[in-house]
Amino acid sequence: MIFDCLTIVAKYAYVHNHGIVDVTDASMHPVQDGLVEQLVALARDKTRIAVFTGAGMSTESGIPDYRGPNGVWATQKPPTLGDFRTNPETRRVYWESRKVRFPELIAHQPNAGHRAIVRLFDAGLVPAVITQNIDGLHQASGLPDDAVIELHGSARRVQCLDCLRVWDGQTIQARQEAGEETPDCQLCGGPLRAQTVLFGESLPVGALERAMLIARECDLMLVVGSSLIVQPAAKVPLAAARSGAPMAIVNLSETPLDHLATLLVAQQAGPVLETLSAALLG
Ligand SMILES: [Zn+2]
Repeated sequence: MIFDCLTIVAKYAYVHNHGIVDVTDASMHPVQDGLVEQLVALARDKTRIAVFTGAGMSTESGIPDYRGPNGVWATQKPPTLGDFRTNPETRRVYWESRKVRFPELIAHQPNAGHRAIVRLFDAGLVPAVITQNIDGLHQASGLPDDAVIELHGSARRVQCLDCLRVWDGQTIQARQEAGEETPDCQLCGGPLRAQTVLFGESLPVGALERAMLIARECDLMLVVGSSLIVQPAAKVPLAAARSGAPMAIVNLSETPLDHLATLLVAQQAGPVLETLSAALLG
């Protein structure tokens, strides 16, 4: 078992929290000729492309980067696990908010980038997608559950903090719609919460280990839409680079691993991935 807890690299957190770089503003990053062609050339003969995705993967689906300057984390601190367990009012406020946010979340649709990754997976070029995202859009785009490694869990699932039983979010939403203000576990009475990883919590058992294995065995690490500032997730592309695999980073802002990358593509994920899959698959 790995006991790594979710943390953020302080130096980069400062930049993001103070809004020096608006990573969601594509106009600041004009298309640079030739970079996507270089990416295609880099990926051309590869057969084990590990895809590692972050918030930038989903911005084109309308889901804001919650670590960006306009994101919720800039203004609002998420509850700690201890507070959630001991304070009924924290749970009540959480579920009141989730009753509104959950239908909004599942209304978002996968974008062209998600669909391009599915085509690469179906062609046998991508063994699995490793994601920091909790929106479930890779599965919604058609990837099987076991092809998506969710390092930070999923907002589409709900888990009992005591007996660890997991429910689909829709099931709990239906209980709320039927009048339950703070749904508890029907098996043990324990507190329920989305199956997501908060700062200070450990990652899901097995997810990081599996991601590291894929990273060490890949022949190309393709980072998409992650600023690689959250640990331990950022150790995954680092492991690929240390194993000798080339790394391409498609992200609008700089990352702490840029110096290890073979190629940096500071462009929106969707069009880059569409071009890549079209070029590789013909
Ligand atoms: Zn329970």
